[in-house]
Amino acid sequence: MAKLTFSIGGIHPADSKLAKDCKIEVLPLPDKVYVSMAQHLGAPAKPVVAVGDSVKAGQILAEPGGFISAYVHSPVSGTVKSIGPRKDLAGFNQTHIEIDVQGDEWAEGIDLSPELVTALPEDTAFILDRIKMNGVVGLGGATFPTHVKLSPPPGKKADCLILNGAECEPFLTSDYRILLESTDEIVVGAAIMQKVLGGCPCVIGIEENKPEAIKAVKASVARLAYPGIRVETLRKRYPQGGEKQLIDAVMHRQVRSGGLPIDVGAVVQNVATSLAVYEAVQKNKPLVTNVLTITGDCIAPERQHNYFFRIGMPLSFIAEQAGGVPEGAVKLISGGPMMGKAIANLDAATVKGSSSILYLGESTRRGQQGPCIRCGRCADACPMGLEPFLLKRLWAAGDASALEANAVQDCIECGCCQYSCPANIPLLDNIRMAKAQVMGIIRARNAKK
Ligand code: SF4
Ligand code: SF4
Repeated sequence: MAKLTFSIGGIHPADSKLAKDCKIEVLPLPDKVYVSMAQHLGAPAKPVVAVGDSVKAGQILAEPGGFISAYVHSPVSGTVKSIGPRKDLAGFNQTHIEIDVQGDEWAEGIDLSPELVTALPEDTAFILDRIKMNGVVGLGGATFPTHVKLSPPPGKKADCLILNGAECEPFLTSDYRILLESTDEIVVGAAIMQKVLGGCPCVIGIEENKPEAIKAVKASVARLAYPGIRVETLRKRYPQGGEKQLIDAVMHRQVRSGGLPIDVGAVVQNVATSLAVYEAVQKNKPLVTNVLTITGDCIAPERQHNYFFRIGMPLSFIAEQAGGVPEGAVKLISGGPMMGKAIANLDAATVKGSSSILYLGESTRRGQQGPCIRCGRCADACPMGLEPFLLKRLWAAGDASALEANAVQDCIECGCCQYSCPANIPLLDNIRMAKAQVMGIIRARNAKK
């Protein structure tokens, strides 16, 4: 079978999937959890509990703060100790609900049994309501509320649901483990989303470096026999899991600048989101758990783990369970080495989209920066067809209108340009700031319309 891939740019960093054979382990509960109100794209959630309230696991703690927002639930049973600002992993203050953990009693109506439920609900409004009420958001990085993404605007329709099982970032293995350990649940989740989208075909895309996952998911798709679901092997190439790159690879359609996947008939969801949809719809279980990888190039194999965590657990608590921060770690990253964010505060709480604690050693320190030698490698590597060297120059010149004209807003922050640059120029760091500025200008202009 042909292996699918995207048309332009991309790079081939080493896999480094060091934790791929580590089965998912369940973490013990900490004494306290800190549940953030800002763990999804859009408006922060608004607390509906008060200090002193007793809560059960799965109980609603906060309601959506706007149309693009999501419910937040308690990951444990206990007592609300405080509600107030606390620093997130980047060091920014966000409202958190602090809970003294007093056990693991779950709210009524949540099915925690391992029994697989394969019969799909008939009513799509019921399905969307369950996804919304259980706080499901995209777990591939963007944390966009899933019920909104599964509701195409009037005049738009989905031609294809793409399930992203690429996990193309080096080191990360949480998606791989759930593909192996929750295979059937992911396929049922896909069938649920397919139904909500009107029965369009569904392609589950998995990179070629995960043959066991491809085999397991193909067997599950055949066994469960929902119509219109197939597995496609994707070529190993970064950023194969980017939304626009997946659409290009699977549907051979291009999302225009400023456009959305649904404009070309595509809806892309991550495999972890599919598992969360399954649990929300078939088990009425809110999104309060996820899987996170502890890995890196400076820790021993026995200290690599894939952990099933509850949202609100401090990262420092999870790091301690795996033996603490290793000597020799010079960088701590949440997410992958290409698109992840530096951890400025290890006491930050995990959120729905947490995917890793990545420790990188001395060898990943950036080399001495030199002048641009105009080799063009950054432009060759850019999967969005941008000219990173030019964007960097325009940012240095403070020319926002030229940055917009050269489509800095289309940058997907994949880091291919920076990775490819022989002069060690921090292209992504500069382009990220330029993009933030231009996006602010575009939003302000649209608000005036
Ligand atoms: S970070 Fe942006 S500019 Fe650089 S390669 Fe990726 S999409 Fe292109
Ligand atoms: S890769 Fe680096 S050195 Fe080469 S053109 Fe781009 S910015 Fe210049």
